[in-house]
Amino acid sequence: MPQADIETGSKLPASPKPKRQREPKPPVSAPVEKPEPTRPAVKREGPFAAMGLSDAMLEALHLADYLEPTPIQAGLIPKAMAGTDLMGQAQTGTGKTAAFAIPILERLESGKHQGPQALVLVPTRELAVQVRDECTKLAHGQRARVIALYGGKPIRPQTEKLQRGCEVVVGTPGRVLDHMSRGTLFLGDLRQVVLDEADRMLDIGFRPDIEKILRRCPESRQTLLLSATLPPPVLRLAQRYMREPEELDFSTKDIAVETIEQFYFTIDPERKFDLLVKLLDRENPRQAIIFCRTRRGTERIGQRLSKKLASVACIHGDLPQVKRDQVMAQFRAGKLTLLVATDVVGRGIDVTRISHIINFDIPEFCDDYVHRVGRTGRMGREGVAFTLVTPEEGPQLTRIEMRINRLLTRDELAGFAPVAMVPTAPPLPGEPAPDRLGPPPPPPTSKPIFGRRTHRLRRAL
Ligand code: AMP
Repeated sequence: MPQADIETGSKLPASPKPKRQREPKPPVSAPVEKPEPTRPAVKREGPFAAMGLSDAMLEALHLADYLEPTPIQAGLIPKAMAGTDLMGQAQTGTGKTAAFAIPILERLESGKHQGPQALVLVPTRELAVQVRDECTKLAHGQRARVIALYGGKPIRPQTEKLQRGCEVVVGTPGRVLDHMSRGTLFLGDLRQVVLDEADRMLDIGFRPDIEKILRRCPESRQTLLLSATLPPPVLRLAQRYMREPEELDFSTKDIAVETIEQFYFTIDPERKFDLLVKLLDRENPRQAIIFCRTRRGTERIGQRLSKKLASVACIHGDLPQVKRDQVMAQFRAGKLTLLVATDVVGRGIDVTRISHIINFDIPEFCDDYVHRVGRTGRMGREGVAFTLVTPEEGPQLTRIEMRINRLLTRDELAGFAPVAMVPTAPPLPGEPAPDRLGPPPPPPTSKPIFGRRTHRLRRAL
């Protein structure tokens, strides 16, 4: 994937001179015309063609090797093309980016435009880069320029790109707002707005920024909202800023994807690092992400690991953006095997080669568990996830199990005897104390786990 901001050649008319002082300046150079690629005509057959997509899009999908739509694409694309506001519940790794990128690109209008026609808001810089790259890939052969706007990078080059004109902007709310207040981003021509990973954007605290942005978008726009979960704050946002959105549920029934095997170890905090090293030795992952809770912890584990193993890097919010981009590019290219990361940056990572997720620190929030584990097993591939749990963290493990409606399997490594969990609730009459030792729990089940154990664990919360 290209890492630099990409603008495909364009025959679209240059942006007109701004009417107001604080609006974007006129383009400094006309977009370059690219010769039409000479390829055999695309066959108008198959499920994508049946959606009425253009030849250019079918060609781009063919080049991307997207032979069939994923369920979210099959469900969302036709409705989005019809102009309806949509609220889709979907995890990453399901093809959701293309599900909104395809209708965005297909609905672009030629003609004079002062600002972009589509805006995609995303929670993290990494996701902004990924979504921009996916849009650019699918814009192959079309005259659509896609720009990513995110913080941690100088604002000037972004401003210059905006001045040259673009059709699609992908950005984090903070930086988009920054450009709006500088008068370098005009939203008056927007026809489509996408809120991607809406739950995460609200978790991070982007609500005020998102609302400010949405208030400046034309009322006639179409709004698409994608979110792994639909908690009340997301629904309120949809109620306020969307027009009778149709709700579509593409979440897998078993939230943590079925192809991912999930295990946990009980371990004392001071032995976690040694266990990690031994586990990596046993598993020999193709590529793995090791999640830590804090930036400092991520840095420390990254440094300690790189003294013992080759091909390790870490990524967290304190790193300069240039460094983050470098690390991500290396990881995507398969040049790094182990990536130690925090949740915020881990969220946007979409690398199909990731075979292992290791939660060095158990996530504080259940949704983070779902998102971390969802980094592997992408597009139906197999994946495995391990979570290290200290004695005091039993209730967190239980909450996660309840959230995903599945029991994690206890794993063991020679030399790392399991440690007893701190009991979290008095046992029910006639039941043993609820420690996590004794016989390993039953194998994961896709049936609801509302049996006695769950009942007892519920009381512990
Ligand atoms: P996403 O859920 O958007 O993060 O997509 C996950 C991965 O699926 C990305 O690497 C996409 O390139 C890939 N992908 C998306 N749609 C398709 C498709 N129809 N067929 C095959 N791969 C796809």
